[in-house]
Amino acid sequence: MTTVEEQVSEYYNKLLKRNAGEPEFHQAVAEVLDSLKIVLGKDEHYADYGLIQRLCEPERQIIFRVPWVDDKGNVHVNRGFRVQFNSALGPYKGGLRFHPSVNLGIVKFLGFEQIFKNSLTGLPIGGGKGGSDFDPKGKSDAEVMRFCQSFMSELQRHIGDQTDVPAGDIGVGGREIGYLFGQYRRSSNRHESGVLTGKGLTWGGSLVRTEATGYGCVYLTDEMMKEHGDSLDGAKVIVSGSGNVAIYAIEKAQQLGATVVGFSDSSGWVSTPGGVDVELLRDVKEVRRERVTAYVAESEGATYHSDGSIWDLEADVALPCATQNELDGNHAETLVANGVKYVAEGANMPSTPEAVEVFRAKGVHFAPGKAANAGGVATSALEMQQNASRDSWTFEYTDERLKEIMTTIFRNSADTAAEYDREHDYVTGANIAGFKKVADAMLAQGVI
Ligand code: NDP
Repeated sequence: MTTVEEQVSEYYNKLLKRNAGEPEFHQAVAEVLDSLKIVLGKDEHYADYGLIQRLCEPERQIIFRVPWVDDKGNVHVNRGFRVQFNSALGPYKGGLRFHPSVNLGIVKFLGFEQIFKNSLTGLPIGGGKGGSDFDPKGKSDAEVMRFCQSFMSELQRHIGDQTDVPAGDIGVGGREIGYLFGQYRRSSNRHESGVLTGKGLTWGGSLVRTEATGYGCVYLTDEMMKEHGDSLDGAKVIVSGSGNVAIYAIEKAQQLGATVVGFSDSSGWVSTPGGVDVELLRDVKEVRRERVTAYVAESEGATYHSDGSIWDLEADVALPCATQNELDGNHAETLVANGVKYVAEGANMPSTPEAVEVFRAKGVHFAPGKAANAGGVATSALEMQQNASRDSWTFEYTDERLKEIMTTIFRNSADTAAEYDREHDYVTGANIAGFKKVADAMLAQGVI
């Protein structure tokens, strides 16, 4: 008779062998399997019909060549990926990432996380993710356009409003979605709005989509703080990154009365003891596409640091909003020593397992990315609903829906944690709540 512990170890060891050289994917699966041991201990039927093995194996993985020509006439060859992980709850849904670090393992980790995140939103969307090792940084608009056209020439065969609906992620914002949509429309001869989300407002985009991940992360943080008798009003907050998620997390946190005391990019970090000038930050990052040093040059009281870490700042709340594994065990110890009591992940898997363990041991309330950053994909699903009904909702209505969804995600994670005797363990709560919905659908739909 094998124990649940042995059974789960066996799944995991096989997965390590079959997916060698993909550490981020291993890390994401390990965290979910750890929570699933608790479910399997109570409900053995979740191990039936190869459910766990099927859940950890993408339904389809597409890898393709992306050749493109730069402004000087040189040919470059990048690699494109789309991992269609699980469509039990709806069409595959998840962003595209353009960053030199992108490889199959990273896309698989993101796609795997996306299954549970999308399930938690309560909306009918499956999980997928894609991208390329192309680096948009330093490229002209024309080069980015030619790359996007080449990328979509292949991707268009595999996506559709009932099949797979990509969106943005690191390095893919409104500009890239525009070029990708243009090429899809040309190749398919269809103005099929529902094939991509994050579109411009005049051609099928939804109000609030740009702000949604950052705002949603702050709405969930506020709920978590209320649960423990606190509030963002008057709190000091660290936000790492200065991209789409970070900018709107900063904006909403400050609207709710917090002071954001620092932000960063991959070149360094900025201390802002008096708060962040969001208009200036948006101009520097979204319009001029410059580095954070440009913000410091034009802002009073902000200082730039290329050494140490943004996690050295003193604060009550930390919102890591840049990239995976940006916050390690030592950073977590420093944050705790400096007074941080709440952490919510705007990015996907920004905290290492060691950091999560420190937060758990030291009583820091911690919301994992699959709950805290689900506002982006939830609003993408709202964009799909508007596209399907050829309707467009107001900012206020969409923002209200986003707020409701984030509150429901928090409650669902908190209540599930309590149901499994893990009160306030939002990692376990989010993993189990996300898992059960997908698992029930997979069991009902048979072995496929
Ligand atoms: P952006 O490309 O807009 O911004 C990314 C930010 O993170 C930039 O400030 C970037 O700095 C920084 N960054 C990226 N890689 C690194 C690195 N290796 N080290 C340090 N800093 C880095 O991306 P988003 O804001 O869209 O995404 C941020 C995170 O949020 C990602 O983990 C993404 O998966 C996640 N997410 C995004 C959603 C969305 O709707 N956009 C939805 C859910 C999750 P630099 O400019 O110097 O590269």
